[in-house]
Amino acid sequence: MNEKAKAPAAAGGNSRANTKKELPEHLKSYKHVWVLMELERGVVHPVSWELLGEGRKLADQLKVDLAGVVLGAPGGTDQAVADCFGYGADVCYVVESPSLADYRNEPYTDAMTELVNKYQPEILLLGATNLGRDLAGSVATTLLTGLTADCTELAVDAEGSLAATRPTFGGSLLCTIYTLNYRPQMATMRPRVAAMPLYQAGRTGRVVRHEVNLPEDNIITKVLSFLPDTSSDKANLPYADVVVAGGLGMQNLDNFQLIRNLASVLGAEWGGSRPCVQKGWITSDRQIGQTGKTIRPRLYIACGISGAIQHRVGVEGADLIVAINTDKNAPIFDFAHVGIAADAVKVLPALTEGFRRRLASATTRSAAE
Ligand SMILES: Cc1cc2nc3c(=O)[nH]c(=O)nc-3n(C[C@H](O)[C@H](O)[C@H](O)COP(=O)(O)OP(=O)(O)OC[C@H]3O[C@@H](n4cnc5c(N)ncnc54)[C@H](O)[C@@H]3O)c2cc1C
Repeated sequence: MNEKAKAPAAAGGNSRANTKKELPEHLKSYKHVWVLMELERGVVHPVSWELLGEGRKLADQLKVDLAGVVLGAPGGTDQAVADCFGYGADVCYVVESPSLADYRNEPYTDAMTELVNKYQPEILLLGATNLGRDLAGSVATTLLTGLTADCTELAVDAEGSLAATRPTFGGSLLCTIYTLNYRPQMATMRPRVAAMPLYQAGRTGRVVRHEVNLPEDNIITKVLSFLPDTSSDKANLPYADVVVAGGLGMQNLDNFQLIRNLASVLGAEWGGSRPCVQKGWITSDRQIGQTGKTIRPRLYIACGISGAIQHRVGVEGADLIVAINTDKNAPIFDFAHVGIAADAVKVLPALTEGFRRRLASATTRSAAE
């Protein structure tokens, strides 16, 4: 593997070509782009569709097939396979086994590595979710290949290699990592980093069913029961349509209630910047940014947040960013679509009341019609 920062490469003195070795003969037959469909309890994690969208672009550039990989219980994969084609796959590799009913690292790693060794993809993408991170690491180490985690951009370079870009040095630099001498080239990407592709109803493709032998006796981990997390205060920031967030400019824990009030009126999710987690104002599952959640809402309202690069990378996919900040030179105004240079502690109650009235009168009007 070769890790390089973007800037030196662009300058030309340290070209990737200088370090590229000939791909070993037995790896030259590896072709096509694969995406793991993260299927749990009958539901595919949306990051899998987002990755199919990214995979489609890579496959088109390489002029190869895009394949989805569906692992699951017998009879439990049909919908995932159909949707896989709808979201752009040409081929779907399906492995069904009672041992694959719930995610466990051992049988999933065995099934994935067996599939890769038999059908030989050149690129394998997984979501940077708990499941994807766990599986990607063990598959990459079992196959002795390279894995680039938490990518923010995936591309194919002029020589047809996967250029996997991710933040480094605490987010102050982006580096592009290549897996030049091993196959497949593996990468993970977090939910919402890529846009959702369009679903094309009725689109079909080729299904390849693969038989595996995964005796339960060989698997140490057992699923005894499934206890869903029923906590009502569970954040779903990545897939929220509207997000309201606060930063250190909110000044204290009590003022953070103003963020929650606005979110409640808008039916929105709420979160904050990393220092708010460190101060104990919010829990870490509500942190937005590079080391927190990536969001892509239709509306993002950032209150008392400076807009540091580590925060920006997590929010710039939002359709509309509204920033409230006392400092008119704050970096957040460089990328916000609407800027309000004012004290968020004063503006938020007025904004919340304004939205409350507006939404109430809209509801009354539509009930009267
Ligand atoms: C490796 C690494 C990872 C990181 N990951 C993340 C991450 O995932 N997410 C993240 O957010 N940060 C992350 N950070 C931290 C990041 O660098 C910034 O320090 C952080 O985003 C700043 O938070 P803030 O904007 O709330 O605070 P500050 O930078 O202190 O900004 C507060 C802002 O509030 C404004 N303000 C003050 N009073 C008011 C008021 N009354 N009304 C309105 N505005 C007011 C100020 O003008 C200022 O712009 C990371 C840092 C590192 C090194």
